[in-house]
Amino acid sequence: MAKRRGISVKELNYKKKKLQFSHQDIESVAAKHKTPFFLYSEEILSKNYSTFYEGAKASGLIDPLVCFAMKSNPNKELIKILAKLGSGADIVSGGELKRALEAGIPANKIVFSGVGKTEEEILFALKLPGKGLNSFNVESLEELELINACAKRLKKIARICFRLNPVVNPKTHKYISTGNKTHKFGLLEKDVLKTLGQSHYWSHSQLVGLSIHIGSQLLDLKATKKAIQRLSEVGLKTKAPLEFLDVGGGLGIDYHPDETKKLPSVSTYMNLVAASLEKHFYKKTDLRPRVVFEPGRRIVAKAGIFVMKVLRNKVSEQNHFVIVDGGMNDFMRPSLYGAFHDLIPVNEAKAKHECHIVGPICETSDCFGSNRLLPALKAGDLLIIKDTGAYGYSMGSNYNLRGRPLELLIDSKNKLKVVNKAQDYSELT
Ligand SMILES: *Cc1c(COP(=O)(O)O)cnc(C)c1O
Repeated sequence: MAKRRGISVKELNYKKKKLQFSHQDIESVAAKHKTPFFLYSEEILSKNYSTFYEGAKASGLIDPLVCFAMKSNPNKELIKILAKLGSGADIVSGGELKRALEAGIPANKIVFSGVGKTEEEILFALKLPGKGLNSFNVESLEELELINACAKRLKKIARICFRLNPVVNPKTHKYISTGNKTHKFGLLEKDVLKTLGQSHYWSHSQLVGLSIHIGSQLLDLKATKKAIQRLSEVGLKTKAPLEFLDVGGGLGIDYHPDETKKLPSVSTYMNLVAASLEKHFYKKTDLRPRVVFEPGRRIVAKAGIFVMKVLRNKVSEQNHFVIVDGGMNDFMRPSLYGAFHDLIPVNEAKAKHECHIVGPICETSDCFGSNRLLPALKAGDLLIIKDTGAYGYSMGSNYNLRGRPLELLIDSKNKLKVVNKAQDYSELT
């Protein structure tokens, strides 16, 4: 039984004092593969997707579409697993579009988000056979003009969804908050409505949906509720026969044990979405648009851990540094946002040392945790960063000319699979 708070016994637990993840012994995995590496679990990923999708259905939403936010983790094997479960994709680049299609996600389950779609990316999407994408989630009037012009050239009709800026202020980190006026995302209501009477925007485009996405790592749903009300009101004002309302992603997870009690369950979230839409939209119209979701973090964060090896210790007066072989180039969230991630030793022992866990990168911010209480760790000992399945590998870089790390998957038969090889020096250009 795991004694530490915040470790779910099933996903991450000690067995004979050795840490297990999704039924695999981490030390045995590290004996066969060079650290550092990401280790993912198909079981947890599938369970998280199903909980989300089934939760949406259980709340009474008709024909929900879950479009996994690929930027959180675009690993091809993981996307294939989600595709088989019926997931769609929320993409933000031509690269992600190509990956989603290759992994088996049909175009009509793909929403294309982002403020900076290029002409090349728009043409790539418009050239897809049939009706093409579920939608371009449009963020500016110039973008709409460009998409319409591209569709005209190709003699196609572009399916358009406006991303509404609902002007709300979610309580989350300022760098991952996106739903207010000063943020670059979304269109204000007046700009959405202004386009509707203007035929030059719509010669080769059709308004099929309206979306919001107010931020990430949301634990307080007050702003979400308000934003869904705004989405509904503006949706009705468009008087368009909308096929879907897209409520975005952003549902958080408990990175810190203190967040566990605040964490909304999927069913709480779904009931809030369903009740808000019922009250502010469905009750007032005969239209029955389906609901689209764009979750990333909630689906994949807990399906991954990052495994590192201790290189050495260094003591500078009161400061005890444990230097590990993983760096901020592999996992950026702590250095980029000051994000908290639990650090757990692979060998169970009583915690007694206060230390700083730091990587090899030449930046002071290359630190995975300051003043953490951990057992004494020596060279060769293993340590994991918890909850790194989302915005982990996908945000990584080659900074300091380090190769990108290995990605491993524990598949549904509990077999270990390499799903992305580590880069070696010959691949660094
Ligand atoms: C990043 C992003 C998401 C996913 O956010 P999560 O917090 O990972 O759920 C969804 N939609 C859009 C438009 C995004 O930019």
